[in-house]
Amino acid sequence: MAGRIRDEDIALVRERTSIVDVISEQVTLKSAGGGNLKGLCPFHEEKSPSFNVTPARNVFFCFGCGVGGDAIGFVQQVDHLTFPEAVERLAAKAGIQLRYLDDGPGSRPARSQQQGLRQRLVAAHVDAAAFYAEQLLTPDGRLAREFLAARGFDRSTAERYGCGFAPDAWDRLTKHLRQKGYTGQELVTAGLAKEARSGSLIDRFRRRLLWPIRDLGGDVIGFGARKLYDDDDGPKYLNTPESPIYKKSHVLYGIDQAKREIAKQGRAVIVEGYTDVMACHLAGVPTAVATCGTAFGTDHIGVLRRLLMDTDAYAGEIIFTFDGDAAGQKAALRAFEDDQRFVAQTFIAVSPDDMDPCELRLARGDAAVRDLIARREPMLAFALRSVLARYDLDTAEGRVAALRATAPLVARIKDRALRPEYTRKLAGDLGMEIETVQRAVGSAGRPGSPPSPVAPSTVDGPQRTVEREALKLALQYPVLAGPMFDAVDGSAYADPVHAAVRAAIGAAGGAGAAVGGVLWLERVRDQCADLAAKALVSELAVEPLRYPGAEPDPRYVAVQLARLQLPAVTRRIAELKSKLQRLNPVDHVDEHLRLFGELVPLEQHARALREQAVGGL
Ligand SMILES: [Zn+2]
Repeated sequence: MAGRIRDEDIALVRERTSIVDVISEQVTLKSAGGGNLKGLCPFHEEKSPSFNVTPARNVFFCFGCGVGGDAIGFVQQVDHLTFPEAVERLAAKAGIQLRYLDDGPGSRPARSQQQGLRQRLVAAHVDAAAFYAEQLLTPDGRLAREFLAARGFDRSTAERYGCGFAPDAWDRLTKHLRQKGYTGQELVTAGLAKEARSGSLIDRFRRRLLWPIRDLGGDVIGFGARKLYDDDDGPKYLNTPESPIYKKSHVLYGIDQAKREIAKQGRAVIVEGYTDVMACHLAGVPTAVATCGTAFGTDHIGVLRRLLMDTDAYAGEIIFTFDGDAAGQKAALRAFEDDQRFVAQTFIAVSPDDMDPCELRLARGDAAVRDLIARREPMLAFALRSVLARYDLDTAEGRVAALRATAPLVARIKDRALRPEYTRKLAGDLGMEIETVQRAVGSAGRPGSPPSPVAPSTVDGPQRTVEREALKLALQYPVLAGPMFDAVDGSAYADPVHAAVRAAIGAAGGAGAAVGGVLWLERVRDQCADLAAKALVSELAVEPLRYPGAEPDPRYVAVQLARLQLPAVTRRIAELKSKLQRLNPVDHVDEHLRLFGELVPLEQHARALREQAVGGL
């Protein structure tokens, strides 16, 4: 049995840990008056800060999602650690030697098992990084050193970023780490070793230049590895696989070094590779980070948003660098398809002559890199310009075709405040009357035109409210609302995003089968077909119900679901009645009977729903 940490040691960790220091590593905090601080909650999606820290009592509390606690609780939740793991992590930072209840002499093995898995995996990575860095300086590391030198990185830069070399051997690292006491299982779980066909463990990375990848807190959690030799038939870049500590959708290379500047300048620059991050930092763009082996996604936005907080609301800039090729332009066009919440804050910097920031710095110096970032352009403007470039705007035919291609894009801009601005800009670029462009944008946005995944909701008023309420009940109170909710199918939802969430709940097994909580929400999110639906799930999971009391009762659920169904049922009744009126009962006896047979029970159902809908409130 592994020992428990002594209570007095836990108390000491609490006493010696500043909750402000711990939280500041993840969340930018601003003064909230009265000695308190506030920031954007790392546990739920929000635009204005409801996450409060009270240094005097060493606690935090979020008014948005209700999460709160002390520094240990924060570390537990933000890094998904167990209580002892969180205590161990904070103790290590505070330099406190923990004692365990059965921690007698000679109990070291028990002790190391006790140490949390996360700690073990991070420690293995730290030891691996030291091993690789040492290898870089050996004769075998010559090619890796030359690679760095050719890109303008000297030895001190290589040291600052912890660059290393994985030697040309099957299991040098694995043997080294086994000698240091790590188990084979730990090395496999960490992604540092893998099982060979023979069954023995071999190193994951061989003959490659390595960059240690760190999390926000500075812990090494993985590696990026670049191919050096022509006869290496692997991909150009290899990364650590998903592990308990390495989630590629969250990982941003360089974030540990860039985070303070990102928070200070209110801006993050997204580049494509490890060398681009280094080049930018050296050139005086200290806010650069890169994704590792994956496209920039919503989880990355989440990581950055917590740093990019201006006084009261999110107001930062995210700047993407592209090397001006077709891939970059395609990526920019996603501006109109993805989650558009931050589109107004998204910028594109296109480097000249197809050079990435690393090449640019080599060819033209540090100032050229700073200049590249300074000349950024709003993402929407860039995307429209890329489309317009495909047409010959000198001819009337070209201008009309260009309008036809761009009007749907402008119609798709979710932020209504931006749409008139881009309509005006488009009119200017095309040399057309603004009314002409307005009309084209207007008709492109109407139903009947090609569907857009992010079309603004055309459903409003009470129907919208009741749809949201039903979804909130299913997400927040599946045990209570589940069976009634599941009985109403997706056709009752007029708003397409609401319908998508309803479908995701069904695909997640239905609300009736759920027990609720974070896992339930995760399951639903996983089933969402698009980002808009995913974002809505997060929003509805925390939005308070309109129910006046503390906890909704079954009657409230019944009322909401009745109100939800009524419009669709009423519509169907009106349809049936109008068909029956147009039908001659003598000539179409069978059809008449069929329609009538549908109408009668439907009217009964509508009456029952109407009674139920007003019954409650
Ligand atoms: Zn919160």
